[in-house]
Amino acid sequence: MENNECVFCRIIRKELPARIIYQDKEITAFWDQIPATPVHILIVPNRHIQSVSDLQEKDADLVGRMALLAKRLALQENIEKSGYRLVINSGEDAGQTVHHLHMHLIGGRPMAFRKNL
Ligand code: 5GP
Ligand code: ZN
Repeated sequence: MENNECVFCRIIRKELPARIIYQDKEITAFWDQIPATPVHILIVPNRHIQSVSDLQEKDADLVGRMALLAKRLALQENIEKSGYRLVINSGEDAGQTVHHLHMHLIGGRPMAFRKNL
């Protein structure tokens, strides 16, 4: 179910501009508007799912395809060898600000992990 107000639904529908680098019937990938790292791409399901907590058994293939797309985009953006991170923030404590499930593909420089936890 799409959501009229949701910024990512609007990007998917091309109502808002974004640097879309991949789109198929189920998934869209576009550059983050405020990149945290030299490569910062968001991979989102076209269907409005709020967060990981709203995933159902039937979404297993969808999430698998999102991860496989991340791998392909890492190769395309030349960070496959140097390394990268996939992040999905869910809910308030994780700092989720857009309530449409999205996987961050970040890389292009070394990243700390525990430091900011
Ligand atoms: P979250 O904190 O929810 O995990 O991540 C939301 C991400 O979406 C942030 O990195 C933010 O910069 C990005 N973002 C928010 N609004 C827009 C937008 O309108 N366009 C694009 N390209 N990215 C957005
Ligand atoms: Zn949405």
